[in-house]
Amino acid sequence: DTTHEMLEITGQATATLPVGDAHSPITVIGNQTIRESFGGETFRQAINSRLAPGVSRVVLNPDAHVGYGAPVGCVMASPTHIYPGPVGVDIKCSMSLLQTDVPAEEIASHTVRRKLIQAIAKRVPTGPGRGQRHAPKSRRVDGSLGFRVATEGASKLVLKKLGIPKAWADRCEDSHHTAPDDTADTLAARLEWMGRERDKLNRIESKYRQLGSYGGGNHFGEAEVVQLSQDPIYRAIAQQWGLREGAVAFLSHCGSRGFGHDLAMNQFRSLKSSFQKQGLAFPAGDPQLVYAEANSSAGQQYLCDMAMGANFATVNHLLINALVLESFQDVFPGVRGELIYFISHNIARQEPLDGQTQWVHRKGATRAFPAGHSQLVGTEFEKTGHPILLPGNPRDGSSVMVALPGASQSAFSVNHGAGRQMSRTKAKKHLSQTAIDQDLIDHDIISNCRVFPRDEAPDAYKDFNQVMSSVTEAGLAAEVASLKAKFVLKD
Ligand code: 5GP
Ligand code: MN
Ligand code: MN
Repeated sequence: DTTHEMLEITGQATATLPVGDAHSPITVIGNQTIRESFGGETFRQAINSRLAPGVSRVVLNPDAHVGYGAPVGCVMASPTHIYPGPVGVDIKCSMSLLQTDVPAEEIASHTVRRKLIQAIAKRVPTGPGRGQRHAPKSRRVDGSLGFRVATEGASKLVLKKLGIPKAWADRCEDSHHTAPDDTADTLAARLEWMGRERDKLNRIESKYRQLGSYGGGNHFGEAEVVQLSQDPIYRAIAQQWGLREGAVAFLSHCGSRGFGHDLAMNQFRSLKSSFQKQGLAFPAGDPQLVYAEANSSAGQQYLCDMAMGANFATVNHLLINALVLESFQDVFPGVRGELIYFISHNIARQEPLDGQTQWVHRKGATRAFPAGHSQLVGTEFEKTGHPILLPGNPRDGSSVMVALPGASQSAFSVNHGAGRQMSRTKAKKHLSQTAIDQDLIDHDIISNCRVFPRDEAPDAYKDFNQVMSSVTEAGLAAEVASLKAKFVLKD
């Protein structure tokens, strides 16, 4: 049972592959069970992505499933082209992990957990369209601060104004994003211009009010009990990062909310219409694979908007973590908390890859730089690699991993979770509510939902153990700690 294999693109497709430095097939990470979970449409999307203009490499991770244009759970690299589809509409959807010093025993009782759920709900709303006015103790963000969030990301001023510890900026995969010319001014000019184009952009500044909120669907906040690896090497790494055996941590999943969504949708609209006006064909006829050359004016505008969406997502996560810590302090006065890491799974970044600088698009994929990677030089993660935060599902747990040198096989990426195995419709039709509720009771997990959403149930996702063993057997990364859910906040 091979753990990973190269999918050779055969037949006619081979002939159309760009002749670059090397013929690179699609890399598939997954044991047999996982590979069988992909289905033909996922492979078709992967092949379409691989054959799209300027693309040098595609990786399918074990959590892969059908997405828009490119599969969710894939990496797509190009030295020259930028693809908005494989970034997605939730620009910089990410995970973050806050480690508290509360011992697990302190949240054994449901009463205490309910108190925490209520304290968090007062500060951080869940649900689509929800923002600061739905949470009496959230931070109010006005237009001028929102503007700075979008253009500066987690700058000193933004962190200070929002009451976020400034050390947390160092625990971000990227604490801020700039325009391609490396300035925040270009972003500011673009955002001012957008402010004047109200109709087109659907009053994007009104979305500042969603800063500090989860949103709906697959986004969540989850209290975890941390269990460190038994392996002394990985245990030491976990401890060096600040993880604590048997203490409560809090895992968050969300992105750039309506702000990023509006920027992304606007970009899709304008790029598609410019393709149509010029009579250009979409790759494989799929409009979701619309693209721009990174140094064209359309490409530069896209990159500005992606940077602003990413800045919003970054500050959104940091603010949520500050508010969650405050909520814990309500219930446990004097409790301390530190951000372990904040890492994205929907973004394109310039990285050194295969001997050149490339745009590495991670669509439902997580960056995985091992110790010594050139982009970690000078950071506190240089000697260990950075933390990788992987949600699984509330029942089977989640994981914190560290990349190994083998991650070079997968363009320095791993999966971003278990990945969906059932569509929402299918899950709603086939999963029993009683069984889901009983499963959570059996695992001592409570939630803020009156009825746990069936399309978000553990069984709507792939077997997390199979996904994890695919990653470890391929030698991409190793687990340093596992996370066991105690309560979940969902829409
Ligand atoms: P996305 O929605 O960003 O594509 O995927 C996020 C991943 O989060 C999913 O693949 C799934 O494994 C995981 N996930 C979804 N809901 C929950 C949850 O409530 N708790 C945990 N721990 N993981 C979840
Ligand atoms: Mn998202
Ligand atoms: Mn996500």
